[in-house]
Order: sequence, then C-alpha cells, then structure tokens
Amino acid sequence: MNRLQRATGAVVGSAVGDALGAPFEFGPEGAFSARFPRPGSGGEMCGGGGWAPGEATDDTQMAVHVGESLLERGGLDLPDVFARFRRWAAADPMDIGVQTEAVLTGGLPWDRAAAEHFRTERRAAGNGALMRVATSGVYFAAHGRTATMDAGRRLAALTHGDPAAWEGTAILHDLLRVALDGDDPLAAIPGTLAAVVPEHRERYAVVLSAGWHPRDATEFNGAVWPCLGTAVWALRTTGLYEDAVRAAVDCGGDTDTVGAVAGALAGAVHGAEAIPARWQEVLHVPLPGAPVAGRVLRAPELAGLAGRLVGA
Ligand SMILES: [Mg+2]
Repeated sequence: MNRLQRATGAVVGSAVGDALGAPFEFGPEGAFSARFPRPGSGGEMCGGGGWAPGEATDDTQMAVHVGESLLERGGLDLPDVFARFRRWAAADPMDIGVQTEAVLTGGLPWDRAAAEHFRTERRAAGNGALMRVATSGVYFAAHGRTATMDAGRRLAALTHGDPAAWEGTAILHDLLRVALDGDDPLAAIPGTLAAVVPEHRERYAVVLSAGWHPRDATEFNGAVWPCLGTAVWALRTTGLYEDAVRAAVDCGGDTDTVGAVAGALAGAVHGAEAIPARWQEVLHVPLPGAPVAGRVLRAPELAGLAGRLVGA
C-alpha cells in the first residue's frame, strides 16, 4: 500500500465514519450493533436525526475548509483558516459544536477569540478540534513529528482555548503521520506521548493505554480525552476499517465525531481500498461557507483533496 492510498484512506475514512455515526449521535452504547448486528450486511448508512443517508457533518465540513486553506495558501495561514471557519459558521451549517459556535460567532479576531472564550467559560476541552484533523494530518505528515504536532496545536487553538484540546489534536496528527509512513501508530504511542506537554501527558497516557476501554471514560466522549481514547481503542481491537468504525460508533454518545476520528486512523492504517464501496457511494459532504453556494463533495472529490494534500 502506498502513501496516497493511506492519505486517501484517512480523509475519506474520516468522512465515512462521520456520516456513519451521525444518525446515532447522543444515543446509547450498542444502538448501532442492535440495528446492524453483522458487518457487511449493507444499509448501515441509514440517515436519521435530520441527516440524509451518507451525509457528513460539521466534522468533515471543517476538515475540508482546513485542507483547502492549506492548499490555497501554500501552508498554515491561521487567519485564513479562521476566516473560512467564520464564513462556514455564518452559512448556517446543520450542526456546529457549542464551543466552536461561541468562538466563531463572537466577533473577536482569530488570535483572541478562543482564548477569551476559555478565560471566561473554562470549559474548552471538547473534541471539536480533534474531529477535523484528517486533512491537516495528511498535509503535515511529511514534515515530521515536531512540525505536525505544532500545526495540530495551532489549528486546535483557533476554536479551543484549553491546551488539553491542543495536545489531543497534536497526538492525533502524529499518529496519522506514523500511519502514513506505513508504520504502526499503536506502537508509536510512547514516542508520541513523550512529545506531549508534560502537564497533559499522564491523562492521555491513561486513555491511550492498551488496557483502557471506552467504559473506563470519566467524562462524556464529547470531551477530547475519551474521544481520542475510544478511536484508538477501536483501531487496537479490530483488524478491518469497517470493524473499527463500527466499534467506535457503537460506543454511543458523540458518535459522528468518534466515528470521524476512528475513521481517520483506521483509514490511514488500512487504506482507502478497505473502506466499503457501499459506504463511499452514498457519502456526501455539504459545504456551507464555500465560495460556490450549494457545493457538495463526494468520495472522488475527497480522494482528490487527499491526493493534493499529500503532494501526489
Ligand atoms: Mg459532527
């Protein structure tokens, strides 16, 4: 498997996981497997909760905006990413995270909005920056551990003022880097953790440890730690892309985002060919805030985006 197949797997795989989980958001553990007991049966992209079958949510929409900014600006242009996020938020997306909406619609400039929100609210360690990592993870993978983790932190800080959210986003960037290199991200975890800011290291070491289970979570998986831990657990305990995203979505809670994060990792590890065609065929990503109104991306366009991001 080559790097392009892994990059495409990460970007398309994240979108597929997002769309698969969307109808089950805030549902209980086991809801997905109760409805779809056997892998490979079909019909899992069922829609519901206002989502059409195969419709990706804010996770993927924001990831596409990040990716297009990186390509059009030729690198990390934080004010540009923030401006795209604000146009997106103002274009009435069907879903938007609570923290993200407060920061993007508050009127403060890019370098103050999230910090000010965190200063006043103190609750800013949601998974809303972690969920949009597939594109930037692919783009920065070739730049090495330090650079990709730093980019992850800075992108997270646009909407999330809590450094805990920055570190989780940085970790996911690095695990994607390892997977794109064709190495095992699970084996890389100790090395990645060593590059985490010390005061946040222990909490991530717990949720990324081999013995951790999503039921061990001490908070809802809308928070960054259990969300990342659940996605890594799903990768660790399965051998196929399909099984990994099924396991993630079946945990319940913030299922679209857990699915998006697990899908990015599993897609990078197993490659685009491992993503069931029946899921890719119905996948579609509405893109509020794009210069062209009514723009919708499908799997081939996402694959093209992944190819440009990886420099293929
Ligand atoms: Mg979402």
